[in-house]
Amino acid sequence: MSPAAIVPRTKKKAPSARPSVANPVQVKLLKGKAKGIELSCVDFLAHVFAGIGADEVPWLAGFPGDVAKAPHSVWFGSPAIPMPRFIRPDHNNYVCVSTFKRAEDGRYRRRKDCWAGLHMVLLDDLGSKIPFDALRLEPSCIVETSPKNWQIWYLLQRPERDPLKAEALINGLIKAGASDPGAGALTRYGRLPTGSNGKAKHQGKDGKPFSQRVHVWEPSRRYTPEQIAQAYGFDLEAASKPRAQRKGTKPISANRHVEVLDAAGLYIRPISGMHGAHQIICPWWEQHTDKDQTGTIYFIPDEHNGGRGGFKCQHGHCADRSIADLDYFILTLRRRAARAAA
Ligand SMILES: [Zn+2]
Repeated sequence: MSPAAIVPRTKKKAPSARPSVANPVQVKLLKGKAKGIELSCVDFLAHVFAGIGADEVPWLAGFPGDVAKAPHSVWFGSPAIPMPRFIRPDHNNYVCVSTFKRAEDGRYRRRKDCWAGLHMVLLDDLGSKIPFDALRLEPSCIVETSPKNWQIWYLLQRPERDPLKAEALINGLIKAGASDPGAGALTRYGRLPTGSNGKAKHQGKDGKPFSQRVHVWEPSRRYTPEQIAQAYGFDLEAASKPRAQRKGTKPISANRHVEVLDAAGLYIRPISGMHGAHQIICPWWEQHTDKDQTGTIYFIPDEHNGGRGGFKCQHGHCADRSIADLDYFILTLRRRAARAAA
């Protein structure tokens, strides 16, 4: 039978004004309750981090139970060599996208100043927050981390050793709408392929936590940062350029919030190309997953925000926070300063 016979005839559509989507990726997910691909955490790590230097380590975290109730200390984690005992099939298991070197005290740390290289990028919350048709490249790995919620990994052909480029790649993907903004920094964790999601809301009727499922595992499918950026339509070279910064000079601004944030050690720098936008450390960073200090912007009052100023923190815990919360926080700081001076 000719395929034309089963395809209903449709009228030719008028050309759309919107640019056409280049090769939307067709992803084959497992159906229904089909068993996932068997992929141990060790196998995953061995492929992702094959050929790493003797002086760098991948980083893992793992713990049982509900993520929301776990103490912050579980996120410290430890180097993946040797495999830590907290990585177990019935635990929440995490791997960091980067490798790390030893700090000055000789111990490995998952910190930006010990950063060694980016080995893979994570696209988080596909299916729930990000539609699958936002995918622009065939994934190296797809893991169902909670019911109808997937995490995508793109493995890099070679580790990216330039931190500006690595960050530009991650931020570019977020800006392109490819991933939930939670996937902010170079120290970000994603879930390992095998493990349980201990969040209470994902518990089955039997009271057991959700057991993760690997839908796709193609470790030879690897990309360069440039290929990823090109597929998602941004210029990695331009985004990787260090921002011009005069050392030792404070930002020139008559803005009171900037002054107060700077005095409190929460000011970072103006964001070039974004009028009136300043990168700051979120006053509530300790509540962020993994205590991440990136991803927060303050906007100086102007006509775009009705003269009120703006506050945007990409972390889930801050989703509902607005300029009103920042105003109140700054007011508290100023009162405290005034009291101390009195
Ligand atoms: Zn925040």
